[in-house]
Order: sequence, then structure tokens, then C-alpha cells
Amino acid sequence: MAQHALARGHVCPDCDGHASVAVTLGGRTPAGHLRTITAHCKACHGTGTRLARASAVTATR
Ligand SMILES: [Zn+2]
Repeated sequence: MAQHALARGHVCPDCDGHASVAVTLGGRTPAGHLRTITAHCKACHGTGTRLARASAVTATR
């Protein structure tokens, strides 16, 4: 299964592109499914990308 390759420099540095994850809460629903919540990265709000900022670029000197 092919995945989209994100351009370097646009990937969110906080989550490394893994912006949303399912977190199991324990237990199962009456239908037998795992009870989960979806957590989004706080830095990129679930997009997995961020615009490069000038301050972030100059900080690597
Ligand atoms: Zn992120």
C-alpha cells in the first residue's frame, strides 16, 4: 500500500507526520469492538504537516 511521501521540512516535528492515533481505553463495547479515542497532535492539529518558520530554520545553525 503506497503512502504519500511528505516533503521534508513540512512534516510536523512534534509527531513526525503521525498526527492522529487511536488510544485504547480498555474494555470492549457490547458489540465486541475495542473502546478507543482518537488523539490529534497538539502542534499540527492532526494534519501531520507544518509550515516551516524562519525562526525554526535559523535555530539549526
Ligand atoms: Zn504534529
